[in-house]
Amino acid sequence: MKILIADDDVVSALMLRRTLERWGYTVTIVHDGTQALAALQQPDAPKLMILDWMMPGLDGPEVIRAVRSQVSEHYNYAILLTSRDQQGDIVAGLEAGADDYLRKPFDSDELRARLRAGQRILDLQTRLLAAKEELRIQATQDALTKLANRRSVLERLEKDAEQCRRGGRPLGVLMLDLDHFKSINDTYGHSGGDEVLRVAAERIQRSVRSYDTVGRFGGEEFLVVLPDTDRVETIVVAERIRIALASLPILFNGKGIALSCSIGAAIREPDEEITDAALMHEADMALYRSKNGGRNMVTGAWDIFEAA
Ligand code: GH3
Ligand code: MG
Ligand code: MG
Repeated sequence: MKILIADDDVVSALMLRRTLERWGYTVTIVHDGTQALAALQQPDAPKLMILDWMMPGLDGPEVIRAVRSQVSEHYNYAILLTSRDQQGDIVAGLEAGADDYLRKPFDSDELRARLRAGQRILDLQTRLLAAKEELRIQATQDALTKLANRRSVLERLEKDAEQCRRGGRPLGVLMLDLDHFKSINDTYGHSGGDEVLRVAAERIQRSVRSYDTVGRFGGEEFLVVLPDTDRVETIVVAERIRIALASLPILFNGKGIALSCSIGAAIREPDEEITDAALMHEADMALYRSKNGGRNMVTGAWDIFEAA
């Protein structure tokens, strides 16, 4: 664990460092408040700091105030080191945002116990952040395929459609459904079906650009959002996905499972007023046409509507 010491008294700082290093901490020393703030801005900076109260430039409480005023996900635990021990000063230090304080000269057992208390707070905060991140993933990601889930890909569509509309650029969507997936489940069992879904998701994801979004829309249905993409490019991407799925069987328990998908494509032209729901409906109609046309094929919605 890393600790930042800020103390203008070089001897006192070195003594403190020796003690902390003996306990296994990694120590960075600075000698004034400005350097302390700079050290805390570094990537991978210490989260725990021991700050002398009186320092040239910014003093300890000022450093803490500056740290607290910055928005950061990670908490900084601050211990003020002081030879002042009047009640009023301690209150002022805590009000500046210090978590704890130590009187100079410090008692080593007390210092150690207070560092452990700080470490507990920081560990707790790390666990909270990890739990928050886990919840975020669970809320936005499909557990089986690791793709965006339905809600998250719809949010993406809304944002991308809005941006393309404002930028006067087209946006493509693909509605994709695996062919005869029920019979894959029936033949290879549910775990075989799951494996096919996982690999299919990977292949779809690998067939698109980094700023495209692939989401699992439902059981064996996927929605692909393609910002800045016109009719021709949308069909190119759709064909790339179709071929990626159909060209190579998926290995499961030593057997190769053949797979194909049907795709419906729709475009929101730059000047077109169409809701996301209507756009997806068009893609759905085109998908339906691909299914009826014999599956393992791509249909553009414009081909249906312009022919009608
Ligand atoms: P079509 O070519 O017309 O799309 O036929 P299909 O068999 O693919 O379509 P259908 O809608 O009849 O069947 C889809 C199947 O997908 C039924 C459902 O049990 C299965 N399924 C949905 N979600 C999952 C899943 O998470 N894992 C597995 N293994 N199967 C799933
Ligand atoms: Mg299907
Ligand atoms: Mg289906």
